[in-house]
Amino acid sequence: GGGGGCRRVRGPELRELLDSKRDVLFDCDGVIWNGEAAVAGAPEAVRLLKQRGKRVFFVTNNCTRPRGNYAHKFSRLGFSDVSEEDIFSSAYCSAAYLRDVARLSGKVFAIGCQGVLQELRDAGVDVVAEDSAEGPDTSIYDCPLDPDVRAVLVGYDEKFNFMKLAKACCYLRDSECLFLATDPDPWHPLRGGRVTPGSGSLTAALETASSRKATVIGKPSRFMFECIASQFDLDPAQSLMVGDRLETDILFGANCGLCTVLTLTGVSTMEQAQEYKDSEAPEKKDFVPDYVVESIADFSEALED
Ligand code: PLP
Ligand code: CA
Repeated sequence: GGGGGCRRVRGPELRELLDSKRDVLFDCDGVIWNGEAAVAGAPEAVRLLKQRGKRVFFVTNNCTRPRGNYAHKFSRLGFSDVSEEDIFSSAYCSAAYLRDVARLSGKVFAIGCQGVLQELRDAGVDVVAEDSAEGPDTSIYDCPLDPDVRAVLVGYDEKFNFMKLAKACCYLRDSECLFLATDPDPWHPLRGGRVTPGSGSLTAALETASSRKATVIGKPSRFMFECIASQFDLDPAQSLMVGDRLETDILFGANCGLCTVLTLTGVSTMEQAQEYKDSEAPEKKDFVPDYVVESIADFSEALED
């Protein structure tokens, strides 16, 4: 990977590309769906890939729901045959990392929504419970710290607040305490032109407060690919990564040695890809996709007989 050609493909050329790979990894938001609406033609594209014998995996930085919820979402949006086992979220992979790589003994202090908490519990990782005695007037002197905490995990959290930041900061004073982030995403598009801050913005606050750098689990980190590969025996040379964000999905592909496809139904534009391609800085080359499609609906057109 790295230094892609940024080449527009469709029709027979796209078919040739798809025929040359065994496995396809899809990012979700901006590729498969936008919020609660499927990208037009996406269910058909996934169905045809599977019909042609491809294994299809979903790799999302969205940590807000447990993977079972995503399986339901796929089915609700018209994807007929996506199972929980094929979905890799940054929350699921963070829990797997704590259990299998860090082999955490002790507890994790988690900043995050239901998805993060549920995946940690499902993985059998011990999570510090919220203190129900804590009211709005509890001071940072009164809030109890759990002596068994050995890791802090930060993800998207709509109930993020000063007290959580302060506690996490105290835990991270211990240099042995791990500091993990589900994903580095800065913001996400919402309906009506609104945006929401992403996990990366919350992680940045804690990085500043602790003078430490978090280990990122989600894209563009290689760990997410290793997590899938450990379960499904993937070969980078035979895998295709399809995403909509150059700084996470395409860089992830480059980091893992995958052929990359940018789809224009999400965050990044052809102009931004071209800008990275034209840049003098060698490190920007990893943001350049090998190929560009308008939408993954183009896959169907390329695959139909
Ligand atoms: N995290 C949150 C909270 C989101 O809302 C989104 C997209 O909606 C994402 C991450 C990005 O998800 P993906 O990696 O599937 O694009
Ligand atoms: Ca995306």
